[in-house]
Amino acid sequence: MDKNIENLFNNTELAFTNKSNFELRKAYFLFSVLDYPFLTKIGNAFLLLVLKLRLPLKGIIKNTIFNHFCGGETIGDCKETFNSLKKYNINAMPEYSIEAESSVQGFENYKKDSIEIINFLGKQGLPFIAIKCTGLLDIDSLEKISSGEYSYDSMEYTSFKQRLVELCDSAVENNVQVLIDAEETWIQDAIDKVAVELMGIYNKKSTIIFLTHQCYRTGTLSKIKKNMKVSAQKKYYYGIKLVRGAYMEKERKRALQNGYKSPIQPSKERTDNEYNESLKYSIKSIHSASLWVGSHNEESSLYLMNLMQENNLKPQDKRVWFSQLYGMSDNISYALSSLGYNIVKLIPFGPIEKTIPYLIRRANENSSVKGQSNRQFTLIKNEINRRKNLN
Ligand SMILES: Cc1cc2nc3c(=O)[nH]c(=O)nc-3n(C[C@H](O)[C@H](O)[C@H](O)COP(=O)(O)OP(=O)(O)OC[C@H]3O[C@@H](n4cnc5c(N)ncnc54)[C@H](O)[C@@H]3O)c2cc1C
Repeated sequence: MDKNIENLFNNTELAFTNKSNFELRKAYFLFSVLDYPFLTKIGNAFLLLVLKLRLPLKGIIKNTIFNHFCGGETIGDCKETFNSLKKYNINAMPEYSIEAESSVQGFENYKKDSIEIINFLGKQGLPFIAIKCTGLLDIDSLEKISSGEYSYDSMEYTSFKQRLVELCDSAVENNVQVLIDAEETWIQDAIDKVAVELMGIYNKKSTIIFLTHQCYRTGTLSKIKKNMKVSAQKKYYYGIKLVRGAYMEKERKRALQNGYKSPIQPSKERTDNEYNESLKYSIKSIHSASLWVGSHNEESSLYLMNLMQENNLKPQDKRVWFSQLYGMSDNISYALSSLGYNIVKLIPFGPIEKTIPYLIRRANENSSVKGQSNRQFTLIKNEINRRKNLN
């Protein structure tokens, strides 16, 4: 890795500039628990128990894992965090923590809540909202649309699309761009379909809608190329959100159980290769696209920075965005923003009991994406030591 960038990624003073000594010590405690799989399991069991039995232990959760990974219980609670990030040119992207909805009332509520968030973002000048399609239609219907059991003329699909249209209209009014999350492969075709249709409506002048592409899936780059061919023919901008993918274990397990070929790349190396090739292709096609990457991988961040330079794109180019989750990889976020790159920090918020499933996923992901958790832990330890040595 380039020595200057390596130094910048190791600059813990910059990475934790926003954290008090007390917050750092709490983060140290949290990551030392996440470092031990058996303690993570106990922690998860504890969180589930609180959720199930409605135990009055919200204070403990709030002061530990919740405060580290979430912005607050309401969007208003998150304002202080948003403002402190703004000082470092980091854009917050609040995401209301939900689990999949299953009733029309639930879908309508998610739409309404999202429109409220969009209004808030518009007022604050924050550029992005992330949308989970499982908040707008139930998993079963999304699966039936994806498998062809329900047609694109079905009531399920048309009302799902209509909810998204209302949401996107409000995004346009508020100058907010919409990122459509990728979810499990068996519901993804319906999500791809609606996202591409919406791009055809909203992306005529600039990129408003982004579709997420998961590089752990085989055929991702081919899909991007195919979709971009259509967007070029129909003359609209293609919004690419690129990630590696979050549901690997679940995908592989389901494929094995149901006896079909796993849609997941056979190795991490192959995922990395698909990711790098997709980055390369996206940057080469940037005249008719925008690229938004969600990753905590330092090498990947550097790879994209180099691609931008090779293709004469300035760090500030508004067609390219880097993003990390709140509570993770601050060393990347603060380093890149100090160099002028466009940074977004995804900040989940919501009532504690609603965020528990998210927090459990964070804890588990930190165990399975072990390298990232270890890296975070090392950075926290280094910063605590650096501050100690100042005294
Ligand atoms: C801002 C943001 C938004 C996100 N949005 C989404 C989203 O909409 N949908 C979604 O699915 N995920 C999303 N993710 C999660 C993301 O897909 C990754 O799971 C996570 O970021 C880890 O990948 P990485 O690039 O940070 O790190 P890395 O540590 O480099 O990669 C870890 C990832 O590599 C892949 N991998 C690991 N081992 C193997 C293996 N043996 N074979 C094949 N592949 C392997 C897996 O995808 C794993 O998560 C988002 C992440 C961020 C930061």
